[in-house]
Amino acid sequence: NVVDKREIIAEAREKGVKFIRLQFTDLLGVMKNVAITIDQLEKALDGELMFDGSSIYGFSRIEESDMYLRPDPGTFVVFPWRPRDGGVARLVCDIYNPDGTPFDGCPRVTLKRQLARAAELGYTMNVGPEIEFFLFCVDENNLPTLKTHDNAGYFDLSPVDLGEAARRDIVLTLEEMGYEIEASHHEVAPGQHEIDFKYSDALDTADKIVTFKYVVRTIAQRHGLHATFMPKPVYGINGSGMHTNQSLFKGDTNAFYDAGGHMQLSKEAHYYIGGLLKHARALAAITNPTVNSYKRLVPGYEAPVYLAWSGRNRSPLIRIPAKRGQSTRVELRNPDPACNPYLALAGCLAAGLDGIVNQIDPPPTTERNIYQMTCAELDELGIKSLPGSLPEAYDELSRDEVLKDAIGTHIYEKLVEAKAREWESFSLQVHQWEIDRYLTLF
Ligand code: GLN
Ligand code: MG
Ligand code: MG
Ligand code: MG
Repeated sequence: NVVDKREIIAEAREKGVKFIRLQFTDLLGVMKNVAITIDQLEKALDGELMFDGSSIYGFSRIEESDMYLRPDPGTFVVFPWRPRDGGVARLVCDIYNPDGTPFDGCPRVTLKRQLARAAELGYTMNVGPEIEFFLFCVDENNLPTLKTHDNAGYFDLSPVDLGEAARRDIVLTLEEMGYEIEASHHEVAPGQHEIDFKYSDALDTADKIVTFKYVVRTIAQRHGLHATFMPKPVYGINGSGMHTNQSLFKGDTNAFYDAGGHMQLSKEAHYYIGGLLKHARALAAITNPTVNSYKRLVPGYEAPVYLAWSGRNRSPLIRIPAKRGQSTRVELRNPDPACNPYLALAGCLAAGLDGIVNQIDPPPTTERNIYQMTCAELDELGIKSLPGSLPEAYDELSRDEVLKDAIGTHIYEKLVEAKAREWESFSLQVHQWEIDRYLTLF
């Protein structure tokens, strides 16, 4: 990487970069960074920069808190919205222990481990996300509200809309940073938007998802709006999902495509789907990681509830978009944008590989609208649902050795601890709903 290193330093100087943010995420997928000046860049690229991991959630105990950041040279990007001189760039980092081994609590290292497993089996994973979010107005103190600026709906064109202007600026900024934006549109709910960028290998996509959220928030703020990736901010309207399109490649060939296969899908694609469906209930703990996530996964709002798959129908958990050939893919519809993308993709891949290695056949496809089926029909077809709450998902995860192994003991235990606290804090609250329901009734 000597060439890489020199090239990056030259590029940074040439572009007038003064500060470099060394970017990583904590276990909850929250982006963290340490800023350095350009004079430290060489040292940073040599992986010699240390930080105190004890203050980052889930990272370390006090007595072993020295961690090393190892930047991935391929992730060097200049932030376009900074002034030309005194510019800011970033590098995404892996976390290493002082003894030079990768740190078990680093989500990016965890995804890389799973990708290495796939590579042993001859596969690379490609992922294309469809990220939804809301743009809300801020009040006179600049605090976010739940008010939206528009009244547009799905694919509507409303030129006077502040949200549209912000989204356009977001797209342009992302493009300047090397994203290839395939689609961007208003979503169903007022103030809700979706931006889809082109698929890439899983690691690059995970890096891009984390950065995407940061860019969206930053640009929205410049337009006087607050962007949120919270899964269900408003009761009674659609929540925000992050449909995750996945495929495995062997070399340059899409391993999910088989012109002669059932639905033009390969055996591997079928097994991958079988694996995803088998582990879906436990995987939800990772792909739908908050108390609020489960308020999205209910009937009536285009979010999946039932563990089924289909070619056309959009109600099941897994859909196979019509495109074939190199674009053949499996669209998993339950992940939401609050998930830690490194862990979510590691979990999806582990589930899919389990399907392939153990040749797990998926159930037959469901072409009927599952929401119109009676409980008896669902039972008869053996269609189960996603967990109804965070504790239910964690209960499933506790019994899923494949997924626990994929995220590793360190991360699993820290997450269990954090999520138990999150649930407890939620449960102890007296919510407005209870006041409205009981205060006058009793
Ligand atoms: N917002 C919906 C969800 O929660 C998806 C809507 C769509 O893209 N069709 O998943
Ligand atoms: Mg979409
Ligand atoms: Mg959508
Ligand atoms: Mg979709």
